[in-house]
Amino acid sequence: MPRPTHRSRHRRRVKKRTPGGRNVVHYERRKPDVPKCAICGKPLHGKSAFVSHDSRKGKERKYYGYICASCYRKLIIKKLVERSM
Ligand SMILES: [Zn+2]
Repeated sequence: MPRPTHRSRHRRRVKKRTPGGRNVVHYERRKPDVPKCAICGKPLHGKSAFVSHDSRKGKERKYYGYICASCYRKLIIKKLVERSM
């Protein structure tokens, strides 16, 4: 029976074979997920999964780190078309 803290799935389970030939389960940390675009779901450029959340704060433009550049472009064009009508 695993330790109570290892019964949840917040750590991934890795099966290993020890030098003595036993099969054991190791509990390892899950890797952080790559930030993805909220509209199309593609991975965002210039964003590492291993950088802490605080340093991911917005940069030059609106929606930075939230939607990708091509979706942002489409959003601007859509708004301009709506305004010109
Ligand atoms: Zn996108």
